Amino acid sequence: MTDTWEPRPVPEVNPETEAFWRAASDGEFLLSACDDCGLVFHYPRSLCPDCFSEDVDWQQAAGTGTIYSYSVSESVSGWPEDGLPLVIAYVELDEGPRVMTNVQDVDPDDVEVGLAVEARFVPTEEENVAVPVFVPAE
Ligand SMILES: [Zn+2]
Repeated sequence: MTDTWEPRPVPEVNPETEAFWRAASDGEFLLSACDDCGLVFHYPRSLCPDCFSEDVDWQQAAGTGTIYSYSVSESVSGWPEDGLPLVIAYVELDEGPRVMTNVQDVDPDDVEVGLAVEARFVPTEEENVAVPVFVPAE
């Protein structure tokens, strides 16, 4: 169903995050992994948030996780009305990091903490940049 979704606004792409957005446009969810202390984290940063090492590499995530917390918004400024209500959630990836995201293709009444979800990638107007969202896992 991905190709029926409206393109998203282009996120801020900078040298620290560029590889993340490019991988998303290829259908891959990249995490950052510290080579020194082993911490796996998101959002992408070139410094480990735990030990401040600069030895940070990319690691491909499975793209699956569970809903850690969520809220349902009936109106969001600038958001198309047919995309409402909008489910905004923290998804805890199987690798551990929590990602703030949208949950789509779901009745908001069916969303609950612990629901298994998987990543989908929504194109933006910028080539090679896609935005990850999550849908209930099959
Ligand atoms: Zn570290």
